[in-house]
Amino acid sequence: MKQSTLFTKTRREAPADEISKNAILLTRAGFINKEMAGVYDFLPLGLRTLNKIISIIREEMNALGAHEIFMSSLQRKELWQRTDRWDDKSVDTWFKTNLKDGGELGLGFTHEEPISNMLEQFVSSYKDLPFSVYQFQNKFRNETRAKSGIMRTREFIMKDLYSFSTDVAQHEKFYNRVAQAYRNVFDRTGIGHLTYMTRASGGSFSKFSHEFQTLCEAGEDIIHITDGGKKEAVNKELGDGVGEAHKAVEVGNIFTLGTRFSDPYLKFKNEEGKEVPVFMGSYGIGPARLMGTIVEALSDDKGIVWPKEVAPFRVHLIALGDVKELADEAYKTLEAKGIETLYDDRDARAGEKFADADLIGIPTRVVIGEKSLESKTLEVKERTSEEVKYMTIENLIAELKK
Ligand code: ATP
Ligand code: MG
Repeated sequence: MKQSTLFTKTRREAPADEISKNAILLTRAGFINKEMAGVYDFLPLGLRTLNKIISIIREEMNALGAHEIFMSSLQRKELWQRTDRWDDKSVDTWFKTNLKDGGELGLGFTHEEPISNMLEQFVSSYKDLPFSVYQFQNKFRNETRAKSGIMRTREFIMKDLYSFSTDVAQHEKFYNRVAQAYRNVFDRTGIGHLTYMTRASGGSFSKFSHEFQTLCEAGEDIIHITDGGKKEAVNKELGDGVGEAHKAVEVGNIFTLGTRFSDPYLKFKNEEGKEVPVFMGSYGIGPARLMGTIVEALSDDKGIVWPKEVAPFRVHLIALGDVKELADEAYKTLEAKGIETLYDDRDARAGEKFADADLIGIPTRVVIGEKSLESKTLEVKERTSEEVKYMTIENLIAELKK
């Protein structure tokens, strides 16, 4: 992408109405736009990163054998009444609205009820189980604390996965595979080293759930690390207090639901011919919360630091001085080799271009200056290092393909 064609602009100053680091940096770098408190738009750079995170999660869900669907946001009141989750007293984050001809609707904050209702028509025998289904879908929550940028918003994409098993033993096998898939997601998005599988309360569904908590000063949770080597922790809410306490952000969670949402609606005939409820689990990740967490945990005083797999581009190519022909050529070569490149072809000063590159946070910066015309070498620097290397375009491509 040629930066001269990008309509977004970077800003030197932090927006006056933001206090969280992720919102300040992502706004200054042109990744997001705030519509109102707790509601954000994703701009070209922001959408590229969000989509990369989504792709990684999708690959890991598909590897579990789960099938992707897409359910509606508008929800029927009756479905939620039968599990006693319609009343504002039981769920205080509902956004509700009215139909013109009367009757109330809800904007879904999760999907256990509609998904178990939808599946009733497909499940009748133990032979129909187990299976799992997931979606990337907009959730609406009337959150009271919406001050954490894209980490806690009132409208957000959630990856929600649901599993359907015959019994607890079959469920536990799948649950453990999801735990590993989640570890893969956080490793691949660059925060695995900071993320702990954390025992937490199971709510009204089961004794425990597991949260994936990433160490970060902006976190709203406190976790106690119980095994640093195995990246395991316990949430402070469970009372105990063994091990060192750390602030952390919940980037995902996995839940044993048991038969809370299937009994008495989603039943099947077991091998003995007896009708019993399906055993369920649910598993969430917020891709935008994950994106905000990466910014909170990895950025430095100059700007954002994107891990390679989620960066909006792999290379930030910067042309300085009268080098248009050579720089255009390098840009074409990189793109032809499948290396996603943001090409700063703007007519701007070196200092401005470097400051923007640091703020935007693309992993590798490549400068073509007037010296490159003779030497045919490019100046290559990683975002996280001060060391500058000189190499030909062929060497650069070989290096990036490693
Ligand atoms: P929290 O305790 O932080 O409010 P939660 O327990 O409500 O989270 P779930 O309902 O299980 O979270 O949602 C699954 C995942 O969706 C969370 O782990 C998180 O990554 C993401 N998520 C939840 N609420 C929000 C929100 N308001 N904005 C962005 N992402 C969210
Ligand atoms: Mg919540």
